[in-house]
Amino acid sequence: MRLRFFVIIALLMLALAAFVSCDKKNPLSADATPAQRYSIDQSACTGCGLCVEACPHNAIYVNNGVAVILQARCKQCGLCVNACPQNAIQ
Ligand code: SF4
Ligand code: SF4
Repeated sequence: MRLRFFVIIALLMLALAAFVSCDKKNPLSADATPAQRYSIDQSACTGCGLCVEACPHNAIYVNNGVAVILQARCKQCGLCVNACPQNAIQ
């Protein structure tokens, strides 16, 4: 009975370790550092709004002719990058 308890605990620990390490390997996870997040090159952005239309998470808006990414909403899917004709999103 005691052995079964320890085996179950060990399996749970292994599953948790696998989950944590898997998340760390994904650079686009919610834990991505600011350097890994997409940003707008304000000198290149023309404010066309194509990225706003492309974003499925409503994470971009245009303010004073320049696109702004709401990092809290951004899922790092990259669709806005592909939609930008100015290559202004990195
Ligand atoms: S990377 Fe995806 S979620 Fe983030 S702003 Fe661009 S389209 Fe929206
Ligand atoms: S698609 Fe590119 S140029 Fe157009 S608003 Fe978005 S970042 Fe700016």
